[in-house]
Amino acid sequence: MNAALLFVDIDTQHDFIDSDGKLSVPCAESLVDSLRRLTDFAEREGIPILSSADAHGPDDPEFAQFPPHCLAGSKGQRKLAETLVEAPVIVPVSGDGLPAEQPPQTIVEKVTFSMFSNPAVDAYLDRFAPARAVVYGVATDYCVRQAVEGLVARAIPVTVVVDAIAGVTAEGSRAALEAFGRAGVTLATTDEVVADRASA
Ligand SMILES: [Zn+2]
Repeated sequence: MNAALLFVDIDTQHDFIDSDGKLSVPCAESLVDSLRRLTDFAEREGIPILSSADAHGPDDPEFAQFPPHCLAGSKGQRKLAETLVEAPVIVPVSGDGLPAEQPPQTIVEKVTFSMFSNPAVDAYLDRFAPARAVVYGVATDYCVRQAVEGLVARAIPVTVVVDAIAGVTAEGSRAALEAFGRAGVTLATTDEVVADRASA
């Protein structure tokens, strides 16, 4: 594994990304090509991927705020093929089962906005100590924002891939990007992320 970098892939699941998904994020389908390029690049370069995935039960409290989505085991809950590498390790909401060796892809399940609600995420970051996190996925103004702010709070430098994120509202996305700027987060395009390593 190329342990210096960690790709952090937030909630790239059919219910969020597909235009007919249960909680479709506007314009998220336009991210698919960038998502595929980032995944291919990580696989080729041996960059580990930490993916978060909603895995809701039928009566989750979040459904008071949003329509039901990403029900555990449903088709909509699945991650896009373009975001998967071979044989990902899935860590359930309990956080149990994080491997001792860093897998090419670890998928942490969650039932709230923040990936840090799965205790395996802090254990993962402590164990594998990435030098920088490269964050992409959905939604900019909810789960991506919470992931970025959580990483910054843990003193991990963050790059956000601006053409591989999409938000629920334009206003919320703008506020998130402003917050990222104040927090010293680096903004980069997919081209830049891929080219950086290619020339390094
Ligand atoms: Zn959810």
